[in-house]
Amino acid sequence: MLKIENLHATVGDTEILMGLDLEVNAGEIHAIMGPNGAGKSTLAYALGGRPGYEVTDGSVTFDGDDLLDMDPHERAAAGLFLGFQYPVEIPGVSNVQFLREALNSQRKARGEEPLSGGEFLKVAKEKAALLKLDMDMLKRNVNVGFSGGEKKRNEMVQMGILDPKFAVLDETDSGLDIDALKTVGEGINAIMRKPDKGVLLITHYQRLLDYVQPDFVHILSKGRIVKTGGADLAKKLEAEGYDEVMAV
Ligand code: ADP
Ligand code: MG
Ligand code: MG
Repeated sequence: MLKIENLHATVGDTEILMGLDLEVNAGEIHAIMGPNGAGKSTLAYALGGRPGYEVTDGSVTFDGDDLLDMDPHERAAAGLFLGFQYPVEIPGVSNVQFLREALNSQRKARGEEPLSGGEFLKVAKEKAALLKLDMDMLKRNVNVGFSGGEKKRNEMVQMGILDPKFAVLDETDSGLDIDALKTVGEGINAIMRKPDKGVLLITHYQRLLDYVQPDFVHILSKGRIVKTGGADLAKKLEAEGYDEVMAV
């Protein structure tokens, strides 16, 4: 579904990704772990097509299409969702407006009919309930004054509404308390654990993986995947640390 080969990417003049290979098949959840500064967020941004993250070599295909050839909107319309460590605040625009606009522009790009206000609200209510987010939150301006946990749950509601084929989630677990972590983990499972979907879950800690069981765990270090294993690799990392695990 997502095939990354020999990906090299630079930020400014610095090469951050240095020949990264990774393949995610439909139905799989892959976790990416790695020390600070390894290039995890750079990978997420490069996949999303964020300006300033320049791919200098290698290829990425998504469902067989050249992802790097698409602009960020086309990537989203093709079914790629990116969740970020620091969700943006958008004063003056309500969540409901923002999400309906986002969903309908993606539907339009796919040649599908837009959802009416009523149809959209039905979907939004269902997803908000799943993430235990009060509907009142959806009527407020995007992320303005939301706590860290509310932002993350809001982002998962966004993901549920957009119903992407593939999600790249960058430290969705950062700043979550235990209850929010469980809710977000269960939300990821409910929305994305499907035979026709894939997930790249970027995380520092093993704890999210207690709720979202990865099929594969990769260690990213210095811009490359240096080790791959099963869910047990994350537990080993938590217990022993990166230096220890990468040394063997
Ligand atoms: P991780 O998410 O694994 O902690 P990042 O991908 O954020 O790592 O960063 C990888 C490296 O790229 C770090 O050394 C970081 O300082 C550098 N970097 C990331 N973004 C920028 C930027 N906008 N300008 C300059 N350097 C950057
Ligand atoms: Mg190379
Ligand atoms: Mg990061």
